[in-house]
Amino acid sequence: MISLVRGLRRLSAVSSTLYQMILARGPISVADYMRLALTNASTGYYMNRDVFGAKGDFITSPEISQLFGEMLGIWCVHLWRENGEPSSFRLVELGPGRGTLASDVVRLSRQFSGFDEALKVDMVEISPKMQELQRKALENFDKDTSSFRWFDSIQALPVESSSFTVFLAHEFFDALPVYQFVLTRRGWREILVDVVSNEAGGFRFVKAPGPTPALGFMENRVLPADLEALEVCPSAGLVTLEICRHLSCAKGAALVIDYGRDGPGGLTLRGFRKHSLHDVLLEPGSVDLTADVDFSYIKEFVGSSAKCLGPMTQREFLKKMGIDVRLRALEANASEDVAKDLHSGYNMLVGSTAMGSRFKVMTIISNGMVYPYPFLN
Ligand code: SAH
Repeated sequence: MISLVRGLRRLSAVSSTLYQMILARGPISVADYMRLALTNASTGYYMNRDVFGAKGDFITSPEISQLFGEMLGIWCVHLWRENGEPSSFRLVELGPGRGTLASDVVRLSRQFSGFDEALKVDMVEISPKMQELQRKALENFDKDTSSFRWFDSIQALPVESSSFTVFLAHEFFDALPVYQFVLTRRGWREILVDVVSNEAGGFRFVKAPGPTPALGFMENRVLPADLEALEVCPSAGLVTLEICRHLSCAKGAALVIDYGRDGPGGLTLRGFRKHSLHDVLLEPGSVDLTADVDFSYIKEFVGSSAKCLGPMTQREFLKKMGIDVRLRALEANASEDVAKDLHSGYNMLVGSTAMGSRFKVMTIISNGMVYPYPFLN
């Protein structure tokens, strides 16, 4: 016991909470580990710091180039026009990070009279620090203060049947906690996180010796015969159900953009720190944890309550939305340095070996709505 207490003193707040939890209850699910490491109120990775950009741990498309937010903004304007130019257009962004994407959409909206007046923005953000950054990003727009609102969960978001409602979820689903399972000779078993030893000093993955309640999350799933490992993200299912609840009361759509695949796959959970891969189990709370999104899982939760279209690659989506034309227009008026930055941002967003192919775009639309461009299947 003395060595444990001495050991705990060396650990970060997240590690020592995890340690005590595991010693008291036994190994915990990967989802519980992720939740504690990322969004625990006092110590979670996202809760108290700005994690983006050159000085942070990773960079996202809206931070790379304004072109990204502008293309999503154009998509919103298109939806608004196609659906009779409603007088209230509610944009709900899930996990808005620094608020850059929302600001780019609001800035673009000013070029479309009618849309500008109709637009209001609801931000769903769990982290007080991120909320603070988002308020700063939006404070300079001279819009009515009631046009921007914040909620700390999608469950807290009121349904507004009189507003045309569009959800944007960019790199949101990949941050939600996943359970992991592997196929053993005795059937599927959950992967758990255990301590390396009773004396503080690290965590390790173990296979549960017998069935655990989380195996219930795999029930009714149709899995490829050769699949030997699987991640399941029940939180993604719950968020999807909430989105569909809104889209069945209010006309609208959701745009989900994330890396991932359209079917169940293997184990993808990974950590990022300072723009490099980092051991998932080392220094929890100071490392970004992320897992590929299974778009087919989201579709299962949509069922018949709304309609899913896609996913298509980010490259295809951005090109069809006119990113090349916009790049040329911006370059024409830019200094040489700015033009260079615009071009390298563009290449990162649409490059077929990078984000352009790894990231996928899927939409969920209210039943009965005209399929929005560029989802014409
Ligand atoms: N969309 C942004 C940020 C992506 S990072 C961008 O592309 O730049 C993930 C974001 O989701 C962060 O803002 C994080 O604080 C937020 N987040 C993570 N889990 C969340 C949850 N359960 N509910 C609401 N926000 C969450």
